[in-house]
Amino acid sequence: SPASARPHVLLLCSPCMGHLIPFAELARRLVADHALAATLLFAAATDAPSEQYAALAASVPDGVDLVALPAPPEDALPPSATVRGRVVHAALSAVPQVRDIARSLASTAPLAALVVDMASVPARDVAAELGVPCYMFFTSPWMLLSLFLHLPELDAGLVGEYRDATGPIRLPGCVPIHAPELPGSMLADRSSDTYAGFLSLAKDAARVDGILVNTFPEVEPAVGQGGTDGVKDMPVHAVGPLVWTRPVATGVNREPEHARLITWLDQQPRGSVVFLSFGSGGTLTRRQTTELALALEATGRPFIWAAKRPHEDTADGAFFGTGRGGDDDDDPLGFLPEGFVERTAGVGLVLLSWAPQTAILAHAAVGCFVTHCGWNSSLESILNGVPMVAWPLYAEQKMNAAMLEAHSGVAARLNAAGPGNGDGFVCKEEIVSVIRRVMDGDEATTMRMRAGELRDRATHALAMDGSSTLALAKVTALWKSSTSSDEK
Ligand code: UDP
Repeated sequence: SPASARPHVLLLCSPCMGHLIPFAELARRLVADHALAATLLFAAATDAPSEQYAALAASVPDGVDLVALPAPPEDALPPSATVRGRVVHAALSAVPQVRDIARSLASTAPLAALVVDMASVPARDVAAELGVPCYMFFTSPWMLLSLFLHLPELDAGLVGEYRDATGPIRLPGCVPIHAPELPGSMLADRSSDTYAGFLSLAKDAARVDGILVNTFPEVEPAVGQGGTDGVKDMPVHAVGPLVWTRPVATGVNREPEHARLITWLDQQPRGSVVFLSFGSGGTLTRRQTTELALALEATGRPFIWAAKRPHEDTADGAFFGTGRGGDDDDDPLGFLPEGFVERTAGVGLVLLSWAPQTAILAHAAVGCFVTHCGWNSSLESILNGVPMVAWPLYAEQKMNAAMLEAHSGVAARLNAAGPGNGDGFVCKEEIVSVIRRVMDGDEATTMRMRAGELRDRATHALAMDGSSTLALAKVTALWKSSTSSDEK
């Protein structure tokens, strides 16, 4: 049947590249495998699209309509507003536009569902008005979703602060979460706006009709498992690992640069290269950047480092695509230690622009991924069977790291040690030693084997008869049946 007559799914994503990437893949699958039409709305936070957005937009396949909604006025929030504050504000400001678009879609084709991300649940009113289900696509692991669904109850039962708790938080079937591994917002005072914002996101997760989560049972066997009423009542469907593997970057002409990178990888021995990336937002301090550079040099291994200009004090990132070293600088690599680029010429590559991460991870020369454990990066590593050095920075990354190490056995965590212990500083010796553990010796062999097994299971989950494809088919069948009964 022509695409216009297909039931339509409207997807709404808040301004986080880490959410938009799996949303694009979900939309692609709805169209390619489930006979739906998809419009994907991106609630932009700034009007100038980032290089990342342009690259993704250029690779969206026919049949998926990607639309960037205009950003709210720049002065709508004080300059001191947090990243999450801006994300939530952009998502909320988008609701009237989402309503107009949803109404106009519904007038030409049956609207099957609205799918929102964790920050855009306020748009569920639009779904309610049009009488269609509102689902969430949760782009972080089940462990975080489970924490969200349990949080109101944990909050009500807690005296004092999470950071002072003597025992870990135990969620059914998940690795215990020790206080230092909790998301930063839970370590803030419970009376703070930061915590209030987090609790409100968590409560929103219980306000939708169902949740798709970007995971699969072999990595999170407890996915969907309840414990409290709120959790038990929520239909949860594991549809992952959805990652974006289509070639990107036609709009920004990085192809020659990327082709050179792959040619360079072709010349490296199998499993020899260390790849380092801290996601779309993660930055290190200047001191930590220097320490990491010296560590890489000391390993003597070939490397590709998707680096960013260091952040002076904190490790938090610039989510909206402004965190890269500027091309207009006299010396864009000037933040690296004196002589580093010369000494590592031929051995290592430092990239300042958006790296073709999935293509790099898919290359047989890559033997280890030093990652901030953002969930997309973790899934991309798993899908390619690449063991990880876990260097979590913010959000739920410390929980992800604990799970990948203790439960899946495909990562080794770095310990903050040496001078500066306590502020998360990781010394050179520790970096070198953990990279060696992941790449050489018996422990490395075991980890590689586990990573290979997990890759095979992940690949199977996504096959036509795999658990994730079947889970998505079940949900889409439900969506479609409600549109046809409306027509009767
Ligand atoms: N990414 C990329 N090139 C880069 C940096 C990031 O392609 O130079 C992609 C990466 O492959 C992943 C996403 O951006 O799909 C980052 O998502 P993740 O959840 O790992 O981290 P976040 O950016 O949300 O912290």
